[in-house]
Amino acid sequence: MTEGPLWSGLDLVARLNARVRGLVPDGVGGISIDTRTLRPGDLFFAIKGENSDGHDHVAAALEKGAAAAVIDEAHADAFGQAGPLYIVRDVLPALEDLGRAARGRMDGRVIAVTGSVGKTSTKEALRDVLSTVGATHASAASYNNHWGVPLTLARMPEDTRFGVFEIGMNHAGEITPLVAMVRPHIAIVTTVAPVHLEFFSGVEAIADAKAEIFSGLWPGGLAIINRDDPTYDRTRWHAENSPARHILSFGEHAQADARLEALTQVSDGSLVKAEVLGQVVNFHLGAPGKHLALNALAVLLAAKAAGLDLFAAASTLGRVKAGPGRGAQSRIETGRGAFTLIDESYNANPASMRAALDLLGSTMRGLSSRRIAVLGDMRELGPQAPALHRDLFKSVRDNDVDLVFAVGPLMRELFDALPSKLQGAWAETADEIAAGLFDVILPGDVVMVKGSNASRMGPLVASLKTRF
Ligand code: ATP
Ligand code: MG
Repeated sequence: MTEGPLWSGLDLVARLNARVRGLVPDGVGGISIDTRTLRPGDLFFAIKGENSDGHDHVAAALEKGAAAAVIDEAHADAFGQAGPLYIVRDVLPALEDLGRAARGRMDGRVIAVTGSVGKTSTKEALRDVLSTVGATHASAASYNNHWGVPLTLARMPEDTRFGVFEIGMNHAGEITPLVAMVRPHIAIVTTVAPVHLEFFSGVEAIADAKAEIFSGLWPGGLAIINRDDPTYDRTRWHAENSPARHILSFGEHAQADARLEALTQVSDGSLVKAEVLGQVVNFHLGAPGKHLALNALAVLLAAKAAGLDLFAAASTLGRVKAGPGRGAQSRIETGRGAFTLIDESYNANPASMRAALDLLGSTMRGLSSRRIAVLGDMRELGPQAPALHRDLFKSVRDNDVDLVFAVGPLMRELFDALPSKLQGAWAETADEIAAGLFDVILPGDVVMVKGSNASRMGPLVASLKTRF
């Protein structure tokens, strides 16, 4: 690992194009934009967010032990002689400059991941696999936007061997400037699906926006795309007309370069048989569900291109775990026996909702026990939202779901379309559904909870875990 500071204090003066007030620190150990998570020795950037302005927190940052703070000219007078301060014209562009500098000084392999769903799952799986081979730096959480990407870059130690960056977007044009900072050797589009539909004319427009990630590829780089997406041809066209020199695909499709052949769900994830670049690979993936197995194929293609041995990489996929709210399973003791809880509470859209219902359908339940789906509204879907909720009916049916509990006005659309024997209950809020749910769950049942973050299914999962 890196010894010495992340950045030297003197180096920062030039990198940030700043003037300094107070003593220049020897070095900074990390980069922070949030005093709640700031560690002593960090460099604090006073970023303006939607709800707060970092300049209001500079004093607190220095008090907590920040090595220095980066502020803009307009605020310089307000801080008197407090310091040390790096004073720049604008704070966010200064963070971007530092991010570009971090990328420029590093000579490892860089992978960027975008997609409608599966960015974080894929990024974390890449982190798990690559870090078995060398120093790996990856985005925290879903830090994938106009501040998350430069922040992740600026935090990257110089001796990083593998950099993994999640890049997200809500609107066309957002990925281009972010990927221009990241300059990946490998760019992955996990999936193109109807998400954030309220900002797009249709799924083709979403494919176009995701494919912006290829524009920033290092010349001669590799594009990895999903062969099963209905927009595959369109995404591929974009890759062909980009700096990408190689294009590889993954999926169930017969022509995918990494093809899923068989999947068996086991208690601690999945057993996967795949054909990757003409070679049969059998591996254990430590997280359940076909969707995560497909992500893992993209991971294998990227790992191989980054120089890893394919089979060695596959052998480390067992360490991949379902992330918080992304399919993590637990057995909850009720006193009379245990039921299985599948926590899918991290966000929802039609693609991830269907994947979660498939996961519920493939999870073993007890004899004469039930599969119970607790579903909250999927947000940000625009005028098609009611129809997209009703459409889930097919997934509920195909996965032998026995009972549906629905939360929110949009899920009412699905609930009302269900045969009455499948109707558990409907409520406006997750809190209201909880009491009825506690009474219904029996030992042996499998209960899957999913909804958009705004429908607050996370707290419902927490209460299910503590209720019994
Ligand atoms: P965000 O845009 O919120 O950052 P993300 O793209 O990072 O989301 P994840 O956090 O990896 O996505 O996963 C979100 C949800 O989608 C989880 O429920 C996860 O299990 C599911 N998911 C992950 N990969 C896929 C996939 N390939 N297809 C369908 N659903 C998926
Ligand atoms: Mg994410």
